[in-house]
Order: sequence, then structure tokens, then C-alpha cells
Amino acid sequence: MQTTVHPPRLVDSHAHLDMPEFDAAREEVVRRAFAGGLVAILCPADLTQPRSLPTILDLAEVFPHVLAAAGVHAHQAKDMAESHILELRELASRGEIRAVGEIGLDYHYNFSSPDIQRDVLRRQLVAGRELGLPAILHSRLSGPDIITAVDAESFTGGGILHCFTEDWDTARAMLDRGFFISFSGILTFPKAHELREVAKKIPLDRLLVETDSPYLAPVPFRGSVKRNEPAYVSETAKLLAGLRGLPFPDLAEATTRNFASLFPFEKTGREC
Ligand SMILES: [Zn+2]
Ligand SMILES: [Zn+2]
Repeated sequence: MQTTVHPPRLVDSHAHLDMPEFDAAREEVVRRAFAGGLVAILCPADLTQPRSLPTILDLAEVFPHVLAAAGVHAHQAKDMAESHILELRELASRGEIRAVGEIGLDYHYNFSSPDIQRDVLRRQLVAGRELGLPAILHSRLSGPDIITAVDAESFTGGGILHCFTEDWDTARAMLDRGFFISFSGILTFPKAHELREVAKKIPLDRLLVETDSPYLAPVPFRGSVKRNEPAYVSETAKLLAGLRGLPFPDLAEATTRNFASLFPFEKTGREC
């Protein structure tokens, strides 16, 4: 008797499918991911970029398991206007976004000044709190200030600290505040020893995986592909499974279950 072996169900919790790198093959990239075992992809749109949100909403229209989030990224904080907060409210009231994000702080690039970044983060956390939405947080060299902002705005809606690169103290503080911790292809990079140690310690029921496409292609694709894409999230998940001494299908199932507990995507009633 023949049995069909299905690939483990996986979720890419963070992919920038609005980026021009996907213009030539956006739907094809999503179909390839779903054909390879993915069951959902979360796409954060940046409200300061005119093409970003329409591109993601169009994609979510075609693929019900592509979930949209929206916000103003730390890099673009200097371009935030009050109209972006109004837009968040409208999007939330129409049920078009599942989270506010990505928002956060990036003290590595400092494309916007740290003061402006902190102000823009806090205003969006307030919006998220009032709208009852989780947050997708970006933090680079800014863990303590992210925690301060979450506490200062009494943000208890949880969400995801994405593309995690901070230390264990930051991870633990965000876990205490109800957040999931998501790992990208950085986890597979040869020099990421400390990050892998942190990844071993995150409780299994708080772990997520992502690609952060089109950036950060995981090993073995790193350097050999022109851009990352959601299908490659399996490489990060396999590495994480190995680190934790778990079979890959178990790690895949756990991260998918975690994502579904935050964003119950399977209640849309449609198959991809
Ligand atoms: Zn980010
Ligand atoms: Zn991102």
C-alpha cells in the first residue's frame, strides 16, 4: 500500500513579500512555499512606503493564509505622520491587519535618531493596545529600551520579537511579557554561537521561525541565491530542531501551533 508523506507543516512568521525583489514572481514564491509545506506567512507592511500595504493586501486577498500586519519600521520612524496611526485604526476596524508591525528600535543602523525611534515605537504600541492587536517587534542592539517601551505603555497584547539577535536577558524579559521569540536564518550562520545558545533555552511553546525575506537567506542558500524566500524557512527550523535534540517534524509542529495560537489562521475556512 502506498502512503503519501506530507512535509511537516511550517509557518514563516515574517516575510517582506512587498519588496521589489518579489515583483517578478510574488505569487509563484507563495505557491512554492505552500507546496513545500508552509501553511501560513505573516507579511509586515510599512505604512511610509506607498506600494507596501497595497501589495500585501492584494497578496492576502489571493492567499487567505498570507496574513498582513502594518506599522512604521524603526528605519522609517522619521517619516511617520499622524495619518499612519489613523490608517492603523482603519485597517484594524476592517480586519485587514492581524498585528501592528513591524515596529521597534534599531540602534545598529540608526537611520532615524534614537529619540524619534523611541517616540514612534511608543505611539504605535499605544495604538496596538487600544486596537487590541499584538505587536511585531524589531530590536537590534536595543533590548533594554524595547522592554522599557513595552512597560511604559502598559502593552500587554503580546506578539513576536522577530529576527531575534539580542541576549538571553532580553529574551527572558520579553517571554515574561507574553511575547514569542522568532529566529531567522541568522541562526544558521557559522558565527552565531551565542544566538544558538539562547535559542536552546526558549520554551518550546514560545518559539517561532521566520525568513525575514528577501534578506538573511539561511545556510546552505546563503551566498548562492539572489534573495531569500519563505520556502527556505525549513532550513532554520531544521537547525533549531537539531539544536534542541528534537525531530524536525516535532519542532515544525510546535512552531506552527505557536503561531496559530497567536494568529488563528486556520479559522478562515479556506484552503490555500
Ligand atoms: Zn525587523
Ligand atoms: Zn522585517
